[in-house]
Amino acid sequence: MAGIRISGLSKFYGGKESGMAALRDLDLDIRDNQFVTLLGPSGCGKTTTLRLIAGYVTPDAGTIRVDDRIISSVEGVAPPDRRGMGMVFQNYAVWPHKTVFENVVFGLKLRKVPAAEARRKVEETLALVNLGGLEARLPNELSGGQQQRVALARSLVVEPGILLLDEPLSNLDAKLRERMRVELKQLQRRTGITFVYVTHDQSEALALSDQIAVMHGGRLQQFGTPDEVYRRPANKVVADFMGIVNFVPGELRSGPGGAPVLVVDGQELPAQIGAEFHAGDAVDLAVRPENVKLSRVREGADQLTAKVTEHTYLGNLSEYWLELASGAVLRAQTHPLEPFDVDDEVFVSIDAGECNVFHRTAASTPA
Ligand code: ATP
Repeated sequence: MAGIRISGLSKFYGGKESGMAALRDLDLDIRDNQFVTLLGPSGCGKTTTLRLIAGYVTPDAGTIRVDDRIISSVEGVAPPDRRGMGMVFQNYAVWPHKTVFENVVFGLKLRKVPAAEARRKVEETLALVNLGGLEARLPNELSGGQQQRVALARSLVVEPGILLLDEPLSNLDAKLRERMRVELKQLQRRTGITFVYVTHDQSEALALSDQIAVMHGGRLQQFGTPDEVYRRPANKVVADFMGIVNFVPGELRSGPGGAPVLVVDGQELPAQIGAEFHAGDAVDLAVRPENVKLSRVREGADQLTAKVTEHTYLGNLSEYWLELASGAVLRAQTHPLEPFDVDDEVFVSIDAGECNVFHRTAASTPA
């Protein structure tokens, strides 16, 4: 087991002066025995970060420590095979002409582990990834999910303190991907290995992680638990990336004692307003569709009025597109059997306690 401490890490492709920053000034403290996910859109720097941790790439600034030992800095990089890390890639990277046993035993042979002990370790590891009994098969006699488990077993058999995983489930079909999610999570818990996992799929990150590092444009935007990044996003970029969100224009007016009060569509809403906001500020209220409720009759003083402009039946829920009196558009997700139709006038309750307020003009991403 091992923790990773990343400080001031930067990588410029094409040289520090004129090159493009793939990663800027990353600070990240990955604790021992955690499942940590690097999450963000294509090109945000996730794979670069993983390759820096793995030792395949030298940083242009900053350090990476594993258990307080510097393994990477501008001065040099400890060789990948001395880092006690395993790596699993998107394309399973198993040898097609070797059996499952031969694929998995490879790392132990390199380390000159005696044959009987190596056999025992391979069998234990194959049992751990639910491949017991398939030792003699060739990869083309296995399903995609089983091949990915062989790749996992090959990394796990040498007992790494850290396992780096780069989109390992993206070549699997949707059903298998969901099952493998559960297996990976259980595997991390059972082994106590620190997992660093790269994905651009926010639902995968939410389902798997103890902590999520949300990245954008080569910069870390937020590092927090799944609940924190989903319900309390640090900025609009994170709010937008973590799932469907409405940004509803509002303003802050002076309330009792001068404290700012949120007003949306002429209606006061009891949202949490941070100390960085002042009366007069133009803001956007970030509202998830599941925090919008609709009713045919007025049920409370702080409801807004809206017209239904579109309705989509999604099986387990219904999605409504609404136009508020101000013309702002709002998406709501409700029980699938709610009886609203296009052109209906409805009353809208926003669960303001679950929403987040951001400055409208402020750059979402730090410059
Ligand atoms: P994806 O999900 O598409 O793999 P990513 O978030 O993993 O994206 P990176 O692969 O880390 O992103 O790339 C970050 C930026 O660095 C991108 O703009 C990419 O084009 C660039 N980049 C990555 N590798 C190299 C390289 N070897 N040479 C030049 N530029 C590179």
